Amino acid sequence: MVALTVRGEVVTETVRSASRVNWVTTLFLLLTPLVGAVWGVAHIRAVGVRPVEVAAFAFYVCATGFSITTGYHRLFAHRSYECSRIVKIFYLLFGAAAFQHSVLSWCSEHRRHHKHIDRDEDPYNIQRGFFWAHIGWLLVTDHKELEDYSNVHDLTADPWIRFQDRFYVPIAVLMGFVVPFAFGWAVGNPWGCVLWAGIFRVVLVHHSTFLVNSLAHTLGRRPYTLAVSARDSVVTALLTFGEGYHNFHHRFAADYRNGVARASWDPSKWLIGGLESLGLAWNLRRVPRERIVAAQLACDSERLFARVTGCSEYARACLRERFAEMSARVEHAASRLGSVEREFRAAREQWGRRRRARLKQLRAELRSSRLEMRAARLRWRAVLAPAYW
Ligand SMILES: [Zn+2]
Ligand SMILES: [Zn+2]
Repeated sequence: MVALTVRGEVVTETVRSASRVNWVTTLFLLLTPLVGAVWGVAHIRAVGVRPVEVAAFAFYVCATGFSITTGYHRLFAHRSYECSRIVKIFYLLFGAAAFQHSVLSWCSEHRRHHKHIDRDEDPYNIQRGFFWAHIGWLLVTDHKELEDYSNVHDLTADPWIRFQDRFYVPIAVLMGFVVPFAFGWAVGNPWGCVLWAGIFRVVLVHHSTFLVNSLAHTLGRRPYTLAVSARDSVVTALLTFGEGYHNFHHRFAADYRNGVARASWDPSKWLIGGLESLGLAWNLRRVPRERIVAAQLACDSERLFARVTGCSEYARACLRERFAEMSARVEHAASRLGSVEREFRAAREQWGRRRRARLKQLRAELRSSRLEMRAARLRWRAVLAPAYW
């Protein structure tokens, strides 16, 4: 609170405290690309690129990148599945090596982002600009003032997560730089491995994650909700380990998938699915297909009727009638497909003599209900597309 004098009257007003630079984070975020560029050019000119450096880089990009997307984000922040202790410890170790703070800090901020999206309390609010959402918010201490961990009680109850929070810096340095050095030393190339699996990798994974807060709120379509800035884009998905279907994610945050369509580029969902097949992950949360389709139809309806405001009341009534008829067909197809999908998943978990035959029958039903769904969607588009343009 501060006292201001306006035309001789003293008024008290709450003002936002001036932003203070977060020097540790700012220096780290500036120096890693700078050191990487200077050292990288000198190193590559001197010795070229060695296969062991590329292998260490690829492993570390995947280990730390997926620890953020499938670990920090989908497991810890959203509880979208459960996993074995060994997988959790892997995420805690390699997630720390990504240098994006501890699980508690990351998840607290991320849950605030979901709860207050596009508003002042959102730490990486895109309404403050692309630069702010991408990296600007990390350079100042504003978000730290709001951090109290009251929204991560479920996580503070876990002793492994508390341990990672307490010893975050030594774990991050150990896993992020010391282990690549030790591996490089074992294969006769310690500093090359630090450069590639340490410096280059940190910069790449940092900006991949940052793009989810900036590009995923700027580029793409909004098929599931128009109420938030988050967007779906395959370009963002390719750059972010599959986190680019952000409109779906903000609408259905508890789902372990971001790219919900089978062909969507979402390697993080494939990794979680792979862990499930190995018995290392379970209770994967999936929003029923019927709810997803209902959200899409509601979104399309909102968009459609916003475009036809200039039409006569009669034309609007005709359009509403056709929309309802087409939507009913799509909903019917979605309901059938959803129930066959659930039956198929349940049958896969059951063992017995008739398992193989039952799975074969359900696969055929899946194929036919997918075709029915596609046909209903095409008909829907064909009838309503002229109204859009
Ligand atoms: Zn977001
Ligand atoms: Zn999220």
